[in-house]
Amino acid sequence: MRIRECIKDLIPYSPGKLKKGAIKLASNENPLGIAPKALNAISNGANQSSLYPDGACVELKSALASKYNLSSDNFVIGNGSDEVLVLITGAYIEPGDNAITSSLTFSEYAFATRLFGGEMRFAKTENGRFQLDTIASMIDNRTKIIFLCNPNNPTGTYFTDSELNEFVNKIPRDILLVIDEAYREYMTAADVPESLKLINTRGNVIILRTFSKIYGLAGLRIGYGIADKSLISDLNKTRAPFNVNSLAQLAAVAALEDNDFLKKSFLVNEEGKRYLYAAFERLNLEYYPTQANFIYVKVNQDCTNVFERLMSMGVTVRPMKSFGVNDCIRVTIGTADQNIFFIDCLEKIVNEKDGLENSSKVKILNS
Ligand SMILES: *Cc1c(COP(=O)(O)O)cnc(C)c1O
Repeated sequence: MRIRECIKDLIPYSPGKLKKGAIKLASNENPLGIAPKALNAISNGANQSSLYPDGACVELKSALASKYNLSSDNFVIGNGSDEVLVLITGAYIEPGDNAITSSLTFSEYAFATRLFGGEMRFAKTENGRFQLDTIASMIDNRTKIIFLCNPNNPTGTYFTDSELNEFVNKIPRDILLVIDEAYREYMTAADVPESLKLINTRGNVIILRTFSKIYGLAGLRIGYGIADKSLISDLNKTRAPFNVNSLAQLAAVAALEDNDFLKKSFLVNEEGKRYLYAAFERLNLEYYPTQANFIYVKVNQDCTNVFERLMSMGVTVRPMKSFGVNDCIRVTIGTADQNIFFIDCLEKIVNEKDGLENSSKVKILNS
């Protein structure tokens, strides 16, 4: 068989590492686990698994419509928001088209674009932040989609409401603006974009959200897009008939109502953030302040080594080498105990290295 030209060089996604018995702080999952209401819903619903799911996700869309004060036809539900990305590129990318994103962001934008023969162009990330002006300046007549990630994975940085509005006003109306807000529920800044306001005024904007992060449903695979009705109807043409399984739908509807769990998840994240910031400062490690449930931190040595040492001690994080950065890791904010354990391990690694440097200095001085 001959593989299509545009995908022959794609590299399969390398997921966050799982190690038996290790604490996983590698994939930004909710450290509190699944929302209890969702667990209850799937336990009760499991016996219906011989039936096909509702291909139109009627209940979930109606729950989302009332949550956001929009209509059910403003939503498309995917097998994770990863799938929604592929629905989007499947609808709008022809071979030879291009899309633009940032050089240090979620890798699935490039994957989804290339899958349909599109070219991904990267605007250089500065200080971990999307450079919206640079992105605007890179648009040409084959640009179909711009992917923004807010807050950005892996850096945790964000752009503001006024920055987004200024950008949206510059973008031609025939270019789709994808705003991936997978971590929106964790954001705390006062000037966070009110991106939902764009749905009724801009037919070329789609916002992506997911149940994989704060709702604790990553293993069930369910996420969604919010957009103008005509855009949603385009996406439905590229969607498989039963793309979202029935347990995921039940869990998502229940999780939306689990306010106690959401509140607790948010607070645990805030507390963990403060603890980790203080620890990084004590260890003299630079980090970006985060708007999400993970922190990007500079470990001042080869990140693959740090990753492997941490894994041998029982905690997995995400080394940034696959993003082209050699001395940084991304760590998911865990429970208080997990954060303490992670810092204890990291401190040992940092001290080992300082010890090595000092002893080699001594050697050089003596020689
Ligand atoms: C985790 C994540 C998602 C969510 O993906 P799902 O397919 O919904 O699990 C989407 N975008 C970004 C930037 C993420 O980090």
